[in-house]
Amino acid sequence: MNLTEAPFDVVSIGLDIGGTKTLGLALAQSGEILVQETRPTPQSSDKIVECVVTLFRALTDQLGNYRVSALGIGVAGLVDKDGQLHRAPNLADADGLKLQRSIEPLIDVPVYVDNDANCAARAELIRGAARNVEQALLVTLGTGIGGAVISDGTVVRGAEGMAGEPGHMLVDPNGPICACGMRGCWESYASGTGLVNLATQAVSAGRLNAIVEEVEGEVEKITSEHVTSAARKGDEEAIRVIDAYSWWVAVGLANCAALIDPEIIILGGGLIKEWELLGPRVRTAFDQLLIGASQRATVRIEPAAAGELAGALGAALLAATEAIG
Ligand SMILES: [Zn+2]
Repeated sequence: MNLTEAPFDVVSIGLDIGGTKTLGLALAQSGEILVQETRPTPQSSDKIVECVVTLFRALTDQLGNYRVSALGIGVAGLVDKDGQLHRAPNLADADGLKLQRSIEPLIDVPVYVDNDANCAARAELIRGAARNVEQALLVTLGTGIGGAVISDGTVVRGAEGMAGEPGHMLVDPNGPICACGMRGCWESYASGTGLVNLATQAVSAGRLNAIVEEVEGEVEKITSEHVTSAARKGDEEAIRVIDAYSWWVAVGLANCAALIDPEIIILGGGLIKEWELLGPRVRTAFDQLLIGASQRATVRIEPAAAGELAGALGAALLAATEAIG
């Protein structure tokens, strides 16, 4: 499409600030994604603000006759309803950043900010696995764990805007130290980092020798991909680690399901590319762990549909909805 010849229309811009990259896109009212761009995420507050403004301008400059109504930002961390980032374990030196107040004066449209997983849940509500669903839970399994609760068809933000952080539920008081500084968070077992923790424990017990050989004895170089790849090839010891990992994923999901009684649990994040390996194991363990699993309707467990654009798309949807009021 030649955007300079486009009919006058309103678009919203959505940005997803992740630990390593920031993805931005322009969403038309028709639902069409007009343009998208990605930049590396800088690590200081000032540079993050600069990156957001630069990316916003780069996107709007390509939009010709379209009118930009608002900017939505999804960010990995605890965000309050005033758009301030309170705690972001995966963004060094960004705690306390007042995203909305810092950016709004620099651009000429309103800015709305929410947690990245809450934004991804909005995308799933409109376009993905949560369409026509009233009660749902979204959990992203990546470097860390993100989450969002959908109730009565909308994303629950809580008293301060910080609802939906299941990664930091305590599941083992004697467990490993988490990125947040606490001990035994669910994230320490059920994220990509958690999978590596479980693999490292297996190595300490004298197992996973094929993987240890692959990294030439440098155990700290073991990644989640080493384990999933070996398991897919039938390595029995790697499969045992995947079994343990899937059980830990199911522990947190069953805890959340006991609390909120969802119709569906949507799993997103980088580990979902291993759905064939993880999906059936998580399903089996979840049904063993959830109270009354055989006496209640089956809670569907499905992969997220919106893919890596989910956060930015949901941020654009947040902006479009809020701008309308
Ligand atoms: Zn934690």
